[in-house]
Parts: sequence; C-alpha cells; structure tokens
Amino acid sequence: MQLRRQRTIAQPAEFCGFGFLTGADVTLRFLPAEENTGIRFQRIDLKGSRPIPATLEYVVPRQRRTAISDGEATVELIEHAMASLAGLQIDNCLIQLDGCEVPGADGSSMGFVQVLLDVGIVEQDALRSVLVVRQSSRHATDDGQIEIVAGPVSRHTLVVSYELDYGPGSPITPQRLTFEASPENFVSSLAFARTFILEKEAAALKAEGYGSRVTEKDLLIFGAAGVIGNQLRIADECVRHKILDCIGDFALLGCDVQGHFRAYRSGHNHNHAICRQVLAANASGLTLQRAGWAASVRRTERGLTSRSQLWPSWFMTSTKNREMDWYD
Ligand SMILES: [Zn+2]
Repeated sequence: MQLRRQRTIAQPAEFCGFGFLTGADVTLRFLPAEENTGIRFQRIDLKGSRPIPATLEYVVPRQRRTAISDGEATVELIEHAMASLAGLQIDNCLIQLDGCEVPGADGSSMGFVQVLLDVGIVEQDALRSVLVVRQSSRHATDDGQIEIVAGPVSRHTLVVSYELDYGPGSPITPQRLTFEASPENFVSSLAFARTFILEKEAAALKAEGYGSRVTEKDLLIFGAAGVIGNQLRIADECVRHKILDCIGDFALLGCDVQGHFRAYRSGHNHNHAICRQVLAANASGLTLQRAGWAASVRRTERGLTSRSQLWPSWFMTSTKNREMDWYD
C-alpha cells in the first residue's frame, strides 16, 4: 500500500461570512500547522482559549450538526470546513475564528475549498496514518429507519455510498450515490453541494431562535412543491451534500480511512457513532499500518519529485470549466 505524506497549506487563508445559527459575522482563518498536529479549531474571541482538536473525543451532542468542545470553548457547525480540508487531503491546519460557529457560506464547502486552493497545499515529511477497515461495523436505530455500515473495500481508498429517502410524497426525491474519495472527485462532485432543509424544519429552528439571518438564498429550503426561491445546482444535490457531511464527520477519526461506508438516511450523530465503532473494531489495523511504515517510506521517497508541491495550477481552472459553470 502506498502511504502518502501529510499536507498543510502554504499560507494562511481567510474566509468571512455569518453563522447560520446565531447570525453573527465571523472571520475564519485557516493557518498552516506542524505535522502530526491534525485539524484544530481555536476561538480567538475568548481570551486564553486553546485550540480544540477536531477529533471524536471532543464531539458534543447536537441535532443536525457537528460541534466540538473542550469544556470551556465550543465550536459549532464544523462539518463543512472539515469536509473541505479532508476532501483536499489537508491534514494539519489550525483554524482560528472569532465566533462560536463556522460561517455558513452558501451551505456548501465550495467557499472554503476556493480559499484553500488559492493559497496552495504543501507536503510535509511525516506520513499520513491510515485506518484500514477489516472488520465490518453497523450502527442502526431501533426502528430500522436509519442505518450505516462500514466494511472492507478492495480499492485502497474511502468509498461512501449514501441512500437518501424522505418517504413517499416528500419534495426531496429518493437519491443514491457512491463516491470514491480523492481531492479531484471531492472538488468536482461534492464540494458545491449545499445544505438543505424542509420548510417546516426551518420554521421550527427560527421559532427556537436559530437562523434568523438565513434566507432561502443561503441554502436549499424545500417546500411542498420543491426548492423555494432557489435552484438546484444538480438534480441529486441533496445526496451529494449528505456524502459531503460524511466526509467531514469521518475526518474526526484523525487519519485516512480505507473502507466502504454504506449509509441509509444517516445524519451527523450516526456518522460519529459508526466512526467510534470502526475505531474500536479496527484499532489493530491502524497499528499494523504503522508497523509497515519503514518500507512504505522508502517507496514513497522514490516516487516523489518534490517535497513541496503546490496544488497544480490547472486544477481549479479545468474543474471550473468542466463542472462548475452553474456555480458562478
Ligand atoms: Zn451539511
């Protein structure tokens, strides 16, 4: 198995927007980070607040989103920023923000991806650890309405299959998609897919005091007749967003994953649950990969021409031309 080197960004990148929950303006900065430090979030609006590792042990229970906390500081709605980093294989990054939640942007990861690609990605010396799923795991609700299964995959990569089904009569039609993770596939197939919500769910959130600044232009709101005041970027945008959420949540494992995850109607909490199970069932797989590093290092070094490769300049241009005309 070919192990890859860890990566970070070449320079700081900034993204400004407002939080979908609180409506507050937030400035977020992605900063380069040392190898083996992983992804961490730091609240610079709180005096003395330390970086919080974006890993499973810091996840706190929430509905419809992913949040982390170290007991003193909390960062809400991290999943789309996490997906952008995992999707681009950026392993080490300190994310500083001056509010309690990541900016909602357009409900997708595209804005984050663009600023990250603009500053460039560099390889580091250390190798990225990989968790190989050898033992299957399953997480399901008692009523069988939600299920997520993780099992081995023949390809040396992460594969996510998702089946979205809101039942008969829903304005969101049933959708299925299988995604094989790579930076190219992430940018061209997932990064643009926006958050969606049913009109009645949006009303309930507003009644609780959330999302007062969010309009139908900021994400996809589905009424009985379909999307309200907005247009889908692609017919199956919803299932693509659900896989984007999976990519962001699976990144909480803090390593690459080789396995096939099959999800039926799962949400963030189920994604976290299957990750905990996969980690428990396959811990030896991670150790085995580490033991085999020496040989892999030699192979990897022979295959590399430069330790400091910027993202190819053609990447965004060609992707934009091919796939994203409707994005602008
Ligand atoms: Zn999402």
